[in-house]
Amino acid sequence: MYILSFDIEDWFHIFDDAYYNKPEKWDSLPARVVRNTNWLLSFLDENNLKATFFCLGWVVEKYPDLIRKISDKGHELAAHSYLHTKVHHLSSKDFNKDTELVIKRLQDVTGKPIQIYRAPGFSLNKNTLWAFEILHAHGITIDSSLKSNLHMGFPGRIPPEAFLLKCNGYSIKEFPTRTFNLGGKHIIYSGSGYFRLWPYWFVKKMFRSSGYEMAYFHPRDFDDHIHKLFKGNPYLQLRYRIGTSHSRKKFQSMVNDFNFLTVGGAAEQLRWEDAKELKLVNGKLV
Ligand SMILES: [Zn+2]
Repeated sequence: MYILSFDIEDWFHIFDDAYYNKPEKWDSLPARVVRNTNWLLSFLDENNLKATFFCLGWVVEKYPDLIRKISDKGHELAAHSYLHTKVHHLSSKDFNKDTELVIKRLQDVTGKPIQIYRAPGFSLNKNTLWAFEILHAHGITIDSSLKSNLHMGFPGRIPPEAFLLKCNGYSIKEFPTRTFNLGGKHIIYSGSGYFRLWPYWFVKKMFRSSGYEMAYFHPRDFDDHIHKLFKGNPYLQLRYRIGTSHSRKKFQSMVNDFNFLTVGGAAEQLRWEDAKELKLVNGKLV
């Protein structure tokens, strides 16, 4: 089971540099998200593919026509927070407000319920277990914010496949992103900068051997211009230049080699009664 997802945010929605991590600055920076997402939508049309789009609330508010276009083309809309703040930097009250806003903005644009969530920067962990209660209260039934093979506060490692997070009176279907062990570090290969960095033969080998993968990209991953926008910061220029000249070609190979589903499509196909379960009760793991 291979799942295709995109986090719809702009090139400056990054965590590497505090300079860019200020919403009051975002309006003054040159936007690339509409242009790059339009390229993605054409690519998906040409390849007859549907995907899940985790949208940042700020982008939804600013470019409602883009989000409507994604929805009208039959893709699946999901939430990626309102202001892209890592969950562990928010109080539960602020997380509640942020989640409420992104869901409201998305529902206002399409009129469809939003049931799928991904936290910015995979930032759900042992300190933010309360977040699941809030996600549930806002109608979220599927999450894709965890990384496999890590503890992230859970008693066992996060399974390298979809699993059920059993909570007090409800459950969340979790779709983690897989990692592999490289010298004790758990490294991603199925998306974004990691996908751009690894040679395609390696990604393909990992996909072939696993049978479950969550591929995730940003519109900026396919834009070989954005590194020029990180003026005066050689580290960011390098980081966001790596692989962008080849990423469209690699992505084409990937969709030729594997059949992809949306998150919702995968959730419908899975036999959840056979899935692994982790238990979370009253904000604690038992
Ligand atoms: Zn993001």
